[in-house]
Amino acid sequence: MLSADEFDRRHIWRPYASMTAAPPLHRITDAQGVYLTRVDGGRMIDAMSSWWCMAHGHRRPEIVAAMTAQLQRMPHVMFGGLTHDPATELAQRLVRLLPPGLDCIFYADSGSVAVEVALKMARQAQAARGHATRTMFASARGGYHGDTWKAMSLCDPETGMHGHFGGSLQPQFFVRRPPVAFGDAWIEDPALNGLQEVETLFAEQAGRIAGFIIEPVVQGAGGMRFYHPRYLAGLRRLCDAAGVLLIFDEVATGFGRTGRMFAMEHAGVWPDIICLGKALTGGHITFAATVASRTVAEAIAGGSPGLLMHGPTFMGNPLACAAACASLDLLQTGAWRDDVARIEAGLTIGLAPARDMPAVADVRVLGAIGVVEMRSPIDVDRAHARAVASGVYLRPFGRLLYTMPPFITSDRELEQIVTEMLNICVIESEDV
Ligand code: PLP
Repeated sequence: MLSADEFDRRHIWRPYASMTAAPPLHRITDAQGVYLTRVDGGRMIDAMSSWWCMAHGHRRPEIVAAMTAQLQRMPHVMFGGLTHDPATELAQRLVRLLPPGLDCIFYADSGSVAVEVALKMARQAQAARGHATRTMFASARGGYHGDTWKAMSLCDPETGMHGHFGGSLQPQFFVRRPPVAFGDAWIEDPALNGLQEVETLFAEQAGRIAGFIIEPVVQGAGGMRFYHPRYLAGLRRLCDAAGVLLIFDEVATGFGRTGRMFAMEHAGVWPDIICLGKALTGGHITFAATVASRTVAEAIAGGSPGLLMHGPTFMGNPLACAAACASLDLLQTGAWRDDVARIEAGLTIGLAPARDMPAVADVRVLGAIGVVEMRSPIDVDRAHARAVASGVYLRPFGRLLYTMPPFITSDRELEQIVTEMLNICVIESEDV
């Protein structure tokens, strides 16, 4: 008879893992606030916000109450031909929150699907405008947009999954990473700030490009880099001039993580289409949204077939809409702004000593995101085991050790996270 853990490891796929060599698992029986409780009773701070999404902490009473009430009325109903109050109320909140004109909302199931829908919207809008040859997309290297086929084709060709799928991914156009870092002085010379490359690409290929997709300001899973917001203003101008639709992927950055409600606010630049996910429901249930400008929506409507060709079974799930409404209500009060500023200051001061350690190449902090980039790949198993034993759940990958704690993380809890990150840096430095 297999134990629960043995059964799990034998029969359940883990993210990016082998079925025959599954990594060690920690069975979680309870999650509350910033804490995860293991079956052995041990507690760990969720320094990852469970992959960026638990902005308000786990089991947030306001969100749980909204979901429970909705669960008792109507957990699900199809969205084809039917609607419900949670969907309407969420749309009202999103329209109020987003820049004017960005107000045609598609409810999707996950961040990857939100990206797929955005790409379909761009392709259909271009075709409807008579640009049948605009079938491809462009992006900057260093990006990550999800695990579905089209989204994968737009992840960084070096760090993404291109090589692993042996030519099955559709080729797309890539420019280099936005080269000017967040916080550095902006460089006006387009040859140096990366925009000339975009201009050249558009001059040569615009007739083939439907849209340019990018994560505003923070390139997350593709390298955790923060770039200068002025890049986005230049990109907006170049997209407009070339008739390329601009798509912002705010799946990871949306809803306060960078200190602004949306990362694009650092730039004051709005896209034609935006993808939202992760913290949309405060992380309490999977959900996402793709929001198009009315101009894009009207273009699609004027084409053939005139319908946006996407409609998943669980579209507009009422439970998820109710969770998202409750999460947005929490953001409405604005207290998160002070919390994120406090976390930013704590991470900036706390992680600073890592800069002087031999293993460390760079330390970056923006909002409630703290990143330590090592010079060589981290011994992930060792770092992971250490962090868990000391009560902080971190999940380093490649050369990156990072935290994105829930906004409610206290100063003391933040200190614990920082201490553990520094300890990992010390141990990695002993190997140098
Ligand atoms: N886009 C970005 C920027 C992301 O960071 C992610 C996930 O990490 C996705 C899209 C995909 O979202 P999901 O994992 O919900 O499919």
